[in-house]
Amino acid sequence: MDPFYQDCTLLHVDADGFFAGVEQALTPAWRGRPVVTGAERGIIAAASYEAKARGIKRGLQLHEAVRQCPGLVVLPSDYETYSLYSRRMFAILRRFTPQVEEYSIDEAFADLAGCGAALGMPLEAVAEQLRLAVQCELGLTVSVGISLNKTLAKLCSKFRKPNGQTILRREHLPLMLQRTPVDRVWGIGRAATDRLTRLGVTTAWDLAQLEATTVRKLLHKPGYETWRELNGWRVFSLEPEAPARYGSMMKGHTFAPASDDVHLVRAEAMRNLTAVLAKLRRRRHLAGLIGLAMRLKDYTVQAGCLPLALPTAHDAEAAPVLLRLFDSHFTPGRLYRATMVWLGALVPAQGRQMDLFEETPARQRYGRLDETVDRLNRRYGQGTVAPAILLDRQRKPWHTRDASPERFRRLARQEGARHLALPRLMLDNPI
Ligand SMILES: [Mg+2]
Repeated sequence: MDPFYQDCTLLHVDADGFFAGVEQALTPAWRGRPVVTGAERGIIAAASYEAKARGIKRGLQLHEAVRQCPGLVVLPSDYETYSLYSRRMFAILRRFTPQVEEYSIDEAFADLAGCGAALGMPLEAVAEQLRLAVQCELGLTVSVGISLNKTLAKLCSKFRKPNGQTILRREHLPLMLQRTPVDRVWGIGRAATDRLTRLGVTTAWDLAQLEATTVRKLLHKPGYETWRELNGWRVFSLEPEAPARYGSMMKGHTFAPASDDVHLVRAEAMRNLTAVLAKLRRRRHLAGLIGLAMRLKDYTVQAGCLPLALPTAHDAEAAPVLLRLFDSHFTPGRLYRATMVWLGALVPAQGRQMDLFEETPARQRYGRLDETVDRLNRRYGQGTVAPAILLDRQRKPWHTRDASPERFRRLARQEGARHLALPRLMLDNPI
């Protein structure tokens, strides 16, 4: 309990139309205009509020969107820049409290408990300063909610969007819940909504008023936990460094035009393998299984998987297995349009059972090699050092999809095509 803020200390921040917002922050000419990203896939990945106002939604086909909204700015996704902005946004949040949980690329929870004295301002001012700092420094707008727990804070950040803030203290709980349709509550999905509607439960307040036993029977434990949060208890704790456990990981890539070139398709599969293994090492896990799926031009899929002799995260141990899989599935003369590699039977690298024969000198060398390659790629950009087989990817003929994102065409000082520095801040940001 904070002596100043009492029990109302859980903050949720959510960027407004994040990917599109970043693009607008980078290119002032696009501000105020309907902007969407996802050009590389033909499907909308994110839409700015101007586009949303014209009925453009995530998941819509691009050609449909362009028809619906003439003058739509359509951009390829540039995840590298988005994640830079994401990190900057979370760094700003950490100025207010060290207790931050990065929930997704554009959302975070934070706990202000114990910070009231140091901050020395009311919650309304905290939310306002946070929004202002992000807007001034990054050119993005965010929405902020502060309340008793995660579920309520998330409701609050959604309550006024974009660029809004809502602080919900215990005494105003009924008012807020009465105004909230039950399907807008975090954790209440479509199936739960259907079940609740049949009981005549339409608002979050109706749900909160149900008997605990009814909720348990109807929505089981997860729904019961949500119910408790709606009633003001704190059930879901903040997880600043969620000890992530992964079940599987994958990387896939579609290429255009479709190809029957064995060297090219193999290089594409291998690229996915090196990318997913680098991710596996970053997350400190080992894989016991490799899967390969290849999509043909007619959308049929060839897939298979093989176990690894020992759980591993080493390129040198996984690559031969992938090549075996590839050779047994690739059919000459057929056209391929995508490959996907997934790793299964994952175990945390630390907690695994040590096998007497595991740490051979060869394995130690692989470990040092991977470590060096990862370091170089982190520093100079993904793919700076890669297996030579990946050079075969250059056999692919150029396609309009290969156009590099706008961000790469306007590199800042000390940036290379493979390495982007901090986000570029425009001089006309409102300061
Ligand atoms: Mg968002």
